[in-house]
Amino acid sequence: MKNNLHHSQYIGTKINLLNFNFIQMRNFFLSIGEKKFCADQMMHWIYHEYCDDFNKMTNISNILRKKLNNMCVIEAPKFIEEKRSVDGTIKWQVAVNNNLVETVYIPEKNRSTLCISSQIGCILECSFCATGQIGFKKNLNVSEIVGQIWNASKIINHNQFQKHRPITNIVLMGMGEPLLNLNNVVNSLKIILNDFGFNISKNKVTLSTSGIVPALDKLSNMIDVNLAVSLHAPNNIIRDKLMPINKKYNIQNLLHSINRYLNKSHANRGGVTIEYVMLNNINDEVVHAEELAMILKKIPSKINLIPWNCFPNSIYKSSDPIKIKKFAAILIKKGFFTVIRKNRGTDINAACGQLVGNIV
Ligand code: SAH
Ligand code: SF4
Repeated sequence: MKNNLHHSQYIGTKINLLNFNFIQMRNFFLSIGEKKFCADQMMHWIYHEYCDDFNKMTNISNILRKKLNNMCVIEAPKFIEEKRSVDGTIKWQVAVNNNLVETVYIPEKNRSTLCISSQIGCILECSFCATGQIGFKKNLNVSEIVGQIWNASKIINHNQFQKHRPITNIVLMGMGEPLLNLNNVVNSLKIILNDFGFNISKNKVTLSTSGIVPALDKLSNMIDVNLAVSLHAPNNIIRDKLMPINKKYNIQNLLHSINRYLNKSHANRGGVTIEYVMLNNINDEVVHAEELAMILKKIPSKINLIPWNCFPNSIYKSSDPIKIKKFAAILIKKGFFTVIRKNRGTDINAACGQLVGNIV
């Protein structure tokens, strides 16, 4: 078994069980001469009881507990700083090696969403995104991705002193491009969806991507979750300027790939979510709304208009709220389900595209 393990699954010389999805957990227990139901018990202790101490796992034999203490750990990355917004949003800074990533909890009326990161930084350099400006540092491994949910759930669901709405939805919309860390992201999603894991329904888990076409095609053969795509422009001329990745996978390639994903998916009942950041005088004119409606005609989609969130030294400005409403009205008139995304946690720099990992 040891030979099959990737070095990122170890902490020191010990194996971090937070890196295993359900099947891998079963294989691990079989490989150390135990029954596979031990994996079910272990998943239950980790993801339902939030227990990281083998000595407290009462239905596991003393001998096995000793063996596990010698071989394994259950270790999530540390949440080192917490910031609370006036609107209830909470942002945590998470220490991963010598870097920081960010995890954001967003309570709403009927649900609570946890926004998690998949990479430290991002290689794609979208010009309107703070994460893109810091460059790429590292892919997060599975324990570093699911560890964000594990830590946050522990704080949110099990706080006896303060009532928070339990986490109902997960979005991969924090730092990084999830499809450029495909294997770790898919294994993390398996843990999120599995009954023995976080047990969250696929309709409530959303992966947001800038549109890495070959990886999106691969994803559709690996797992089924809600898809959100950062389109942000109605044509290639504008998108090339905002998102350099468009020069490799342009809008037409991307839309075809989205359709292929939707044809296979059962999670995306209302269609794909199209994310469109509203940038003053760049992509927010009436003609752009009309062009957007035209290119999306054959794609079952819900459109999410995102007021741009500022960060230092950026050349952009957010569109005027009146212009955003007008843009939305055109899309609605053309029959598109369109919402204007509410900015949450702006006072603590927790909104979309503001996540950079710096201590602010
Ligand atoms: N890399 C993925 C997921 C992380 S970004 C992606 O690009 O989809 C999550 C969302 O925030 C994306 O739609 C992204 O385009 C958007 N975003 C980035 N910077 C932003 C900013 N400054 N203001 C508003 N939205 C932003
Ligand atoms: Fe990366 Fe997404 Fe930011 Fe683009 S918008 S730089 S893909 S995190």
